[in-house]
Amino acid sequence: MKTLLKTSVLERFLKYVTFDTQSDPNSPSVPSTAKQLVLLDALVEELKALGLADAVRDEFGIVMATLPANTKKANVPVVGLLAHVDTSPELSGANVRPIVHRSYPGGDLVLPDDPAAIIRAADNPDLAGKKGEDIVTASGATLLGADDKSGVAVIMALLQYFKERPEITHGTLRVSFTPDEEIGRGVRKFDVQRFGAYCAYTLDGAALGTYECETFSADAMNVTFQGFNTHPGFATGKMVNAIKVAADFLNRLPKHGLAPETTSGRDGFVHPNTVEASVDRTVVKFIVRDFVTAGLAEKETFLEKLALATVADWPGSSVTIEVKAQYRNMREVLARFPDVVANARDAIERAGLAPVETGIRGGTDGSILSEMGLPTPNLFTGQHNFHSRLEWISAQDLERSVETCLELVKLWEEKA
Ligand SMILES: [Zn+2]
Repeated sequence: MKTLLKTSVLERFLKYVTFDTQSDPNSPSVPSTAKQLVLLDALVEELKALGLADAVRDEFGIVMATLPANTKKANVPVVGLLAHVDTSPELSGANVRPIVHRSYPGGDLVLPDDPAAIIRAADNPDLAGKKGEDIVTASGATLLGADDKSGVAVIMALLQYFKERPEITHGTLRVSFTPDEEIGRGVRKFDVQRFGAYCAYTLDGAALGTYECETFSADAMNVTFQGFNTHPGFATGKMVNAIKVAADFLNRLPKHGLAPETTSGRDGFVHPNTVEASVDRTVVKFIVRDFVTAGLAEKETFLEKLALATVADWPGSSVTIEVKAQYRNMREVLARFPDVVANARDAIERAGLAPVETGIRGGTDGSILSEMGLPTPNLFTGQHNFHSRLEWISAQDLERSVETCLELVKLWEEKA
């Protein structure tokens, strides 16, 4: 293992997690919660203090800033680094009290605010490799927010590192901090043109050395059953109960596959997650997921046939189907940018780590940005157990993440 860099990353991380930046899927505003702006505005001031004079936060809560190039080469591509400031709506992010367990001796980590909150070595195989490292956790009552304040801290620490070492040559670096990733909306208003980068990387990944170039492709699908309602006392031969039609339809879904609870790896699924039910009209809302975009249409056709077969057994009922695209597998874009992926892998290697490419059974901001024309793989920061009170991250992994980004920026300059 290489000697670790010594940067401001841990100190910054411990500061950023104390900001409550929970996003809210039920809020119509942009960003979804005003408290995210408190951290975003603080970051603008810190960026300016680090010499990124153009740092600015727009009306949508998106921060952008430029570290100007200091290389003599004119053809170095502009590279972007991104992280999201919001934390999961599933768990409180208020009054986060980070704890640094110095020189972790192995075994379970007990969190003081709740005796039931124990990070068990048996459930966390990655902890075994962290003996002697400094493990950061929350106190047991909240999440930690390493997802994704680790990414924010890594980017800021890298910028400080560059400031302190002007002899390191690099191209133009664009950085951005965004809100509302956890509710899938943060980069919908991202101005790819204004960002002006050839490619970008989100710092929002998990275990040491991992990088992600593949996500699900995703659609939402509403299956609406129309029945006929009338006074139940006078309903004989007239009423058609859409709730019963929908129940029959749901009961016809496969029991042994095609569902989140029965698939893994590269298998996609259909997943009914909400039912809005009344006798007259019942809507079954699905999410549809597959690594291959063409697989979405196959699954949607399957559901449509199943719905039509169901209404055929319920005279007087009918069904309408509505499909909405959500996001696409970033691989479909990244396949055209092999240099973007190769430099990620090489940077991890040059930081002294073994690169591991993994796929995400979900989406990232990068899936949306890639589709918008900015190829954006995801890089590890060392996050574990995100969206949980049992979140943890190693301070040394944070340093290795900074070093990976450093190598990445240097690689783009060297190869130009
Ligand atoms: Zn995240």
